[in-house]
Amino acid sequence: MNIAIIGGGAAGFFLAINLKQLSPNINVTIFEKNTNVLAKVLVSGGGRCNLTNSFAGIDSLHQAYPRGDKLLKRAFRVFSHLDTYKWFEDKGIKLVTQEDDCVFPLSQNSNEIIECFIRLSKELGISVKTSLDLSSITFEEKYALTFNQDNTRVQFFDAIAITTGGSPKAEGLNYLEALGHKIVPPVPSLFTFNIPEDPIRELMGIVAENTIVSLQGTNIKASGALLITHWGMSGPAILKLSSYGARLVNDKQYRFNILVNWVNEVNCDILTDYLNSIACKNPNMKVSNVRPYDISSRLWLFLLNKAEIPLDRKWGELGKKGINKIMNRLSNDEYSVHGKGSFRDEFVTSGGVSLESINFNTMESKSCKNLYFAGEVLDIDAITGGFNLQAAWTTAYIAAKAITQQ
Ligand SMILES: Cc1cc2nc3c(=O)[nH]c(=O)nc-3n(C[C@H](O)[C@H](O)[C@H](O)COP(=O)(O)OP(=O)(O)OC[C@H]3O[C@@H](n4cnc5c(N)ncnc54)[C@H](O)[C@@H]3O)c2cc1C
Repeated sequence: MNIAIIGGGAAGFFLAINLKQLSPNINVTIFEKNTNVLAKVLVSGGGRCNLTNSFAGIDSLHQAYPRGDKLLKRAFRVFSHLDTYKWFEDKGIKLVTQEDDCVFPLSQNSNEIIECFIRLSKELGISVKTSLDLSSITFEEKYALTFNQDNTRVQFFDAIAITTGGSPKAEGLNYLEALGHKIVPPVPSLFTFNIPEDPIRELMGIVAENTIVSLQGTNIKASGALLITHWGMSGPAILKLSSYGARLVNDKQYRFNILVNWVNEVNCDILTDYLNSIACKNPNMKVSNVRPYDISSRLWLFLLNKAEIPLDRKWGELGKKGINKIMNRLSNDEYSVHGKGSFRDEFVTSGGVSLESINFNTMESKSCKNLYFAGEVLDIDAITGGFNLQAAWTTAYIAAKAITQQ
């Protein structure tokens, strides 16, 4: 059997190696359009490769995977984060789980993963062909592949795995649509928010540790730390919100309003009671000098100004109206987002080959027999934390297993 894997990234290599380990007699060729393979793995996790997550902080998979959770729920029964952990440690790569549940190589170096993949590919006899960009797939008795750089030569295979990763442009997926697959239009996910001309940017560098941010007019929200930057807002809560709302804010052309709850307290009565208790205990103290919830002092002064409360006003003088203004500012602070930025160049694509077009148990196409998918080319994407690579390992492993069981 001759198998072609299109795309020499995380999913492509993982699929090829598992395929050869499960069935050594299969001939496997990886085709990569660039001169270098595994380029994204190299830069992943800031060069440290956050290759999976302990999932300890995840209550429901939908929290980590806004798209693809249902498929992955089933798929993780076959190859989970624990299998990933074992797989890499069996290959001699020691791993470490950080306090935030992210898993990295102990060496803190993504090169260790790349060297492992390259060494195993050589040992297992996997052929890796670079600078070959797939241009078309046709099928008669076998799959016939042509490549842009070599369009006179057709290569024939019994099965194909598409592991071409996220594509920001829908045109890159046209050939898959032509083969009968439904395509969910690709849009970016995991980005920061530009909030131009808002004075909040003067507080750049301040981190509010425990916030809830939401897209105004929707029930889409995310919690966690929020970093104020010189262009707007970033940090885990914002990246998560960008992931949960990726499609919606793309429809709005990245012009939308967000509400920030700076103190992670959604119950207005609890918040009001708390502010009243501060006023009772400190009636003669200036509002600027007693900060609720240990909020950063610069942020507190900023919010008081925004609430139009004079900084020398005493807590005892605030009255119901003043307490209400502060309560609103702390829990419902509105900002207008105009545009998106990047987070350390890290982004993923939401969209791609629709999961309606594939068999969840095998990753095989429903419209083309012996055509498989794995990785970010599928309409699966996650928040940051190692979840995206975990999806690539899991889907690649399942496709490899299914190919060997044909
Ligand atoms: C800067 C950055 C940092 C990241 N860090 C992390 C992290 O720490 N943890 C995490 O879980 N996720 C991270 N991600 C996301 C993660 O890297 C991807 O989700 C993952 O690499 C997807 O694997 P893949 O194999 O599907 O795609 P890729 O790794 O993108 O591989 C696809 C390959 O296919 C090739 N290809 C595309 N089209 C063709 C074609 N027509 N013919 C031939 N070859 C083709 C591409 O050149 C590429 O080499 C990061 C992403 C970025 C951009």
